[in-house]
Amino acid sequence: MIIVTRAGITAAEIDHLRERIEALGLRTHISAGEHRTIIGCIGDEEVLREVPLLAFPGVEEVLPVLKPYKLASREFAAAPTEVKVGAARFGGLEFTVAAGPCSVEDESMLRETAMAVRDAGATVLRAGAFKPRTSPYSFRGLGERALKELADVRREFGLPIVTEVMDTRQIEIVAEHADMLQIGARNMQNFSLLTEVGRTHRPVLLKRGLSATIKDLLLAAEYIMSQGNMHVVLCERGIRTFETATRNTFDVAAIPVLKRETHLPVVADPSHAGGRRDLVAPLAFAAIAAGADGLLVEVHPCPERALSDGEQSLDFSEFEAMMERLAAFAELMGRPLRPLSPVAI
Ligand code: PEP
Ligand code: MN
Repeated sequence: MIIVTRAGITAAEIDHLRERIEALGLRTHISAGEHRTIIGCIGDEEVLREVPLLAFPGVEEVLPVLKPYKLASREFAAAPTEVKVGAARFGGLEFTVAAGPCSVEDESMLRETAMAVRDAGATVLRAGAFKPRTSPYSFRGLGERALKELADVRREFGLPIVTEVMDTRQIEIVAEHADMLQIGARNMQNFSLLTEVGRTHRPVLLKRGLSATIKDLLLAAEYIMSQGNMHVVLCERGIRTFETATRNTFDVAAIPVLKRETHLPVVADPSHAGGRRDLVAPLAFAAIAAGADGLLVEVHPCPERALSDGEQSLDFSEFEAMMERLAAFAELMGRPLRPLSPVAI
């Protein structure tokens, strides 16, 4: 249930409402917009039915949230959520690009790539330390060693890091080294993992599962948020269909649908969606046109030598060329790229 307040409600009136609701054993979530505040009530709503909420000063409307996802639903927040990742953010006015290699292969390629993507306008570094691979015999990442290298590069370049966590046992160490925890497509419905990342204070990048519906994705986000972590960014990365010409099918319509359904930021991953480097730029442009808040792009110093996902990785000059054109297009769409603000991380 959500309580919509009148413009001009006082802080004391909000506190009064909150105390009354919490005394009934529910939790509250306050979302203050420019003109009104929304108080979300979480827990057994039955007990609220006995309370004449409309009689409280400052209350305009009391609405049930009918969707199966509540915390993630658009109605739950007064304004779109901004998720801060180090000095960068997703869901603000600017368009945010996270880029980097599929996997950390060694320190020098990581440093080189960090420098190249930062200079081209990316404000978050992506790179896998623990890799989910289709075959268990493929390269599965350098693990803890890669996390240390990521932390060094983060210190050196000031770029916040997003990296995947595949198992609840890895959460502590990944959260210690990274700014944002990535839940990969194959783990989108690993409910114990969702629950545990929801208990951390790190923002989460949640990728859509290979055969997940938009509703499934929103319910997975809801699991994370129900544990108290509201800093979730959703990622459309292509889904499995009967089409074989592309690695996955990029569901561009998911972007405006998600933007309508949720207050959470939505980004697209054109690298995994198409699976081919020639498709990265066209899909990136489509994502911007569809209203995405940012991108996740794979970049490698020498894609033909990459230990994972070389076919879909851009080299430095391809990434730079794409970013130059993309910046102009994003600006046209009212979403300029911004350099990292000089905040210490
Ligand atoms: C990745 O980002 O490198 C990755 C493994 O992505 P996904 O989980 O979307 O396949
Ligand atoms: Mn990859």
